Amino acid sequence: MISYKPISIGNILCNPGSREPMPGRTGDPTITLIQTDKDILVDPGQNHPHGQIPAAIKLLNAVLPHLHSQKLYVFLTHFHYDHCSLVNALEFAATSPRYNRKFEVIKQTAGEVAEGVRILPTPGHTPEHKSLEFLTTDGRVCIAGDAVLNEAYFRGTNRWNRIYLPNEPTKKDIDLTVKSMEIIRNHADIIVPGHGDAFPVKR
Ligand SMILES: [Zn+2]
Ligand SMILES: [Zn+2]
Repeated sequence: MISYKPISIGNILCNPGSREPMPGRTGDPTITLIQTDKDILVDPGQNHPHGQIPAAIKLLNAVLPHLHSQKLYVFLTHFHYDHCSLVNALEFAATSPRYNRKFEVIKQTAGEVAEGVRILPTPGHTPEHKSLEFLTTDGRVCIAGDAVLNEAYFRGTNRWNRIYLPNEPTKKDIDLTVKSMEIIRNHADIIVPGHGDAFPVKR
């Protein structure tokens, strides 16, 4: 049985389609723990202005009580700062004598990463972007990272203006982004986006 739980629900820094930061937003990603034969933390998030180690310890304190094993696996959907920059501090803290856990970043780019949890390549937002899919009692779940920024982005009709803009996307990037979102739409009943709450594909 595969389960998943949100460790923290992030929110998006900029209104999709605009570079204007939204007041009070931190730009943190949604961090999810998937549990099957492995405990996999997806996108541990970003370094914090008041220090990486305190941020890593705060995250570990939220994650470790749920773990089934002594080893924490981490999966990164893509290499944007907000999703992955805490990973080194997290490893340092998790493997320290205080926590004494084993730690591994999953390097696979295709196939099954744990029992029933499969990589779905979803390039576009970035070239290396990958999502995870698996079946639960609620239906097929996709942890989509920034292949789906949030529900508003997924439901938007004006997608060209909704491509997230730390990058200057080319026509090819935009085509791939739209194609990847369609792949996710066809694979999933429930989407966990890169930022914001999980939502059902069909309303
Ligand atoms: Zn991103
Ligand atoms: Zn993001």
